[in-house]
Order: sequence, then structure tokens, then C-alpha cells
Amino acid sequence: MSSLLGTHAIVIGAGIGGLATAKLLSSYFAKVTVLERDALPDRAEPRVGTPHCRQAHVLLKAGLQELLNLYPELERELELAGAVRARTAVDILIETPGIDPWPQRDFGFDTLCMTRPLLEFVVRSMTTKEANIDLQPQCRVTKLRLSADQRVTGLTYEQAGAAREITAELIVDASSRGNMTLETLDACGIPRPDEMDIGVDIAYGTGLFRLSENASRSWRGVIHRPAAASGRGGFVFPCENESWQVTLNGMHGDGPPEDLPGFIAFAKTFRTSTIYGALNEATPLGVIHRFAFPSSRRRRFEALTAFPHGLLPIGDVICRFNPAFGQGMTVAAQEIGVLRRLLDEQVGATAPLEGLASAFFKAIQNVLAAPWSLAESDFMYEKTRGARPADFAQRMQFSGALMRVAAQDARVHRLLTEVNHLMASPTLLRDPEIVRKVSAQMAAST
Ligand SMILES: Cc1cc2nc3c(=O)[nH]c(=O)nc-3n(C[C@H](O)[C@H](O)[C@H](O)COP(=O)(O)OP(=O)(O)OC[C@H]3O[C@@H](n4cnc5c(N)ncnc54)[C@H](O)[C@@H]3O)c2cc1C
Repeated sequence: MSSLLGTHAIVIGAGIGGLATAKLLSSYFAKVTVLERDALPDRAEPRVGTPHCRQAHVLLKAGLQELLNLYPELERELELAGAVRARTAVDILIETPGIDPWPQRDFGFDTLCMTRPLLEFVVRSMTTKEANIDLQPQCRVTKLRLSADQRVTGLTYEQAGAAREITAELIVDASSRGNMTLETLDACGIPRPDEMDIGVDIAYGTGLFRLSENASRSWRGVIHRPAAASGRGGFVFPCENESWQVTLNGMHGDGPPEDLPGFIAFAKTFRTSTIYGALNEATPLGVIHRFAFPSSRRRRFEALTAFPHGLLPIGDVICRFNPAFGQGMTVAAQEIGVLRRLLDEQVGATAPLEGLASAFFKAIQNVLAAPWSLAESDFMYEKTRGARPADFAQRMQFSGALMRVAAQDARVHRLLTEVNHLMASPTLLRDPEIVRKVSAQMAAST
């Protein structure tokens, strides 16, 4: 990039969202500083600032595609580091109430399976190869700094017990919680964005296992989706070091125990015995780690009439999703794709960063709509907190019938798989031919 948009940008947080944003900004700013509160390991291992990294993380196909735009060698590097390739919808068995299991069909694309620490380590290594990116661990950002005309011009952070200040033309908040963005709005007298919540109160437990080599399996991964009445589900995915991640989850106060016998007994209550059977013969490689996730949450930044210049929240700060759908990293990557388009349009402008956040908030609504709509399916659980969409009952009826159609019809199954991987818009499922088949299915089941 010959035309730069500024001399210095700062990214708060070195999660997947922060790292990929830094990589993007390194093409537009002379220097990019990433400040991360954690010590960062020099290999793929969990860290304190992201306790959820011990839970299974799936990178959807659309997320991989977006990340490949930033890191063309990513797929190769992940495989070299131990990621396991599985053919989507063939190797990964999906069990859904009423369709236990889905037909295994080849739609021509793979899912790369690995732990989140491996993905983050590889992305971090590739990011810090950029000469103009300076990643500083053990630096906790405490406050954003405002000029007299309420522009964000820098921040304060703590490093080794000392408070330090640093200035930049653009500060990206990829801290996940976004407290500093909200506090900065308070300081500017701008109301905080409204929040939509889907209160799922989901509890996860994940352990690493070695699966029995004697068992004959027709799969290299399992997704067991919960029924509305039970809320219990789980995943099994291969990962690096010939290990498997097994995640079990329950909703609204129910969750898998941390002790191994209790964990296995939890899987035994599922509709099918696929995960239980695998677990029962598996060798544990460590303890079970639990994680509680209260709600999917969408902050309506796009509805604000003002936003401080020089600040841009991204990733989970804007919208976080029930992890069971595996969407968060992909949505963060897609938001970065939108940011790339906006920055490209500004190259050569006299005030390139003016109004950037507002344009960004508007432009990412297309990215958020589909995954949010999928997350809304959590309202099928009676105890889910929040405002159910008015047409929820019809939507569930349609999607139940759509799944039965897709189980029989490979073309619809392919499209549904692409929608679930955020590669295709769900509006394509409203194709008249598909709607006709779904309507016939609904009529047949009444
Ligand atoms: C249990 C669970 C399972 C999930 N599974 C999936 C999955 O299967 N697929 C998927 O795509 N997504 C999944 N997600 C979501 C995914 O982790 C996030 O959406 C994604 O990583 C984007 O997050 P982020 O970069 O915005 O924030 P994070 O990855 O949370 O990173 C935020 C970073 O900011 C740092 N930080 C915070 N405050 C400060 C500060 N003051 N100063 C400096 N640094 C700071 C943190 O230490 C951290 O490194 C899951 C989430 C959870 C909770």
C-alpha cells in the first residue's frame, strides 16, 4: 500500500479479532501497536485473558476465507502446526433432533480442526512478522484519552506497575468486553448503545482426550445439537497432537460436571450414544475445564447519533454469540473484511478517518444479521431470557421443515451448510422452489 492513512494505530487486545485487525491496519498505517494485558506464550497454549480458549473453537469456512485474505499462507501454516483437515458434512457427523444423524454428503470443502490456542498462536506468529507491527504483552489498557473537542487521541496503559501514555490517530477496541469504549462514551456525554440480549445461560465443559483406536467410526467429528426440551448438546473434534476436544454443554443452570465420571454420565443422557460411546472408551489427557456464557449480546452502535472520532470497537465488543454456533471468530474476520473496504475507499482522502466508526457500524449490519438470526433460535428454550422476535413461532416451524427437506434434498442441504458456515446469505433459503418444498413438508406434518 503506497498511500498511508496515518502514522500510528493502536489495537487493544491480541485475541483473534485484535491480531487480524492489526494485520489489516499494517497496510494503511506506518506503525501499529497491539497492547495485550496477558503474558503471551511462545507456543500454542492457553492463557489467562481468554479463559474460553480451553473450550472447543470451530473456525467456519467463511472465517477461514476472510483470514486467508489477510494471511495467504494461513491454511498451510495451520496444517504444519498440527491442525486436522476434515471434510465438512462428510467427516463431521451432525445430529439434530429428528435427524439423527444427517446424511453424510460431500459439498467440496473442508473444516480445519484445532484448538483455539493453536489458531491464535499461528495467527499471532504471522501477525508479528510484519515489520511495522509492535505487539506488547503484559500491557493493560486502563483509559482512553480525549482531546478538548472529544476526539480519542491516545490511551493510558499499565506496564510492570507503571502507567504509560501513548498517542495514535486510530484506536481499535478489540478487548471483547469493551468497557473502555463505553466509558469513553460516558465521558463524551454520548448515551451508551442499546443492547439486545438472548439469555442462554449456557455452561460448557471441555476436555482433551485420546479416542480409542479400536473403535470403528464413520466420522472424524460430531456435532450433537440439543433438543428444546433438554438443552444438552456436545461436540467432538480432532485437534493437534492426535488428540480430540470433547465439549459438552447444558442450558439455564444445567451443565456438565467437572469430574470425569460425571462428565461421561452427562453424555449418556443425550438422544444418541455417539458421543457417549466415544467418551466411554477414551483416555483423558487432562482435566475438564468449565466455562459459563450468560447471553448472546448485540450492541446497537449503528443507532448512535454521535461517536468519538479516532475510536473503533470490533469483534465481541459489538456482538457476541452463543458459542454453540461457532460464529464469533468468523464474524470478527468478516467485520475486518468490511473495514478493509472502507479503508480502501479512504486512501487519498484529506481526512480519511473522519466518520469511519459510523460508516463501519452501518456497513457491518449485513455481516451481523445472519449470525444473529441463527442465535435467536435459542428462544426455542422456554427459559431463554430476552425479547422473542414476533414471528419466532413461524420461523421455527419453517426451519424445522427446512431441515427435514434438506435431509432429503442434497441441493438444499448444501445451501443450508453454506448458510451455517456464513458463506451464503440465509435469504437464499427463501428461494421459491425451496419455499414450495418446505411448505409441502409443513403441510404433510400437520
Ligand atoms: C466458550 C466459548 C467458545 C467459543 N467457541 C467459538 C467457536 O467455536 N468459533 C468461533 O468462531 N468463536 C467462538 N467463540 C467466540 C470467540 O472466542 C470470539 O468471538 C472471537 O475470538 C473474537 O473475540 P475478540 O477478538 O473480540 O476477543 P477475545 O478473543 O476475547 O480477545 C480479547 C483480548 O483482549 C485482551 N484484553 C482485554 N482487556 C484488555 C485491556 N484492558 N488491555 C489489554 N488487553 C486486553 C484479552 O486478554 C484478550 O486477549 C467462543 C467463545 C466462547 C466464550
